[in-house]
Amino acid sequence: MYSVELRGVTKRYPGGGAEPVVALDGVDFAVRPGEFVAVVGPSGSGKSTLLNVLGLLDDPTAGERILNGTDVTDLSVAERTAARKESIGFVFQDFHLLPTLTAVENVALPTAFDPGDASDRAADLLTRFGLGDRLDHEPSALSGGQKQRVAIARSLINEPAVLLADEPTGNLDTETGESILAEFERVKEEGVAVVAVTHDPLVEEYADRVVELTDGVLVGGVPDEGGSEGNDPKGEDSDEDGPKGEDFDEDDPDRDEAGSGTPRGTEAWTAGDR
Ligand code: ADP
Ligand code: MG
Repeated sequence: MYSVELRGVTKRYPGGGAEPVVALDGVDFAVRPGEFVAVVGPSGSGKSTLLNVLGLLDDPTAGERILNGTDVTDLSVAERTAARKESIGFVFQDFHLLPTLTAVENVALPTAFDPGDASDRAADLLTRFGLGDRLDHEPSALSGGQKQRVAIARSLINEPAVLLADEPTGNLDTETGESILAEFERVKEEGVAVVAVTHDPLVEEYADRVVELTDGVLVGGVPDEGGSEGNDPKGEDSDEDGPKGEDFDEDDPDRDEAGSGTPRGTEAWTAGDR
């Protein structure tokens, strides 16, 4: 099963009296768990639109959208918000960190309305990304690469099946960009499907698959081998509530144990679970 899939997706924006803009034109796209896919294309080719549709921030005009085997083409706002929180992590080019919050607080922010305190998990994630000594720093005291690491940590706080990144290296120098891409490689190795849209050629060196988007047309968006094998599609949905519930159990002994090397209960981070 694919982590996320688009079938024949078209996205049109009203053209303000003129012709509508066709931002995505019959796009077929699929990503497997543990795969890092780069979508490359020039400015205006529809990359951000693709990511927003993949990430349930925007709905397709036509076509189907499937997330973890469930059709999520048309959802109510509440369902969409819930599905996004459950399964999607976002990383933006300009980080989108709140300036008055510390690194830990920014990372924990997506859990603000959940029971329990995610600060320990946020600190574990930041430590994993090499920011263990920056936990209480505000974004203004962090470099661009550090801010992007905070943003990645935040995108992972809810253990998404899919991590979506919009021009994640766009504001970073080459060396820092490479270190961010290396972090994505580690994330994918834990079973997360990673999609980065970019016009940075560097991303192509790190991706398992590169697909090109031109004027809303995507070429080679679905892997050749098909998607029916591997990765235990059935076991997954039933698992999802279990680990989540435990995450908020402050007395969970597994969490501390996992915190030394990997940030979360490692069992929730293996490819088999995703
Ligand atoms: P990219 O991220 O590759 O630069 P976008 O997805 O942002 O491309 O945009 C694709 C096309 O859709 C562009 O022509 C853009 O002007 C248009 N577009 C994007 N968002 C909107 C919107 N909210 N309303 C109208 N047109 C839009
Ligand atoms: Mg864009």
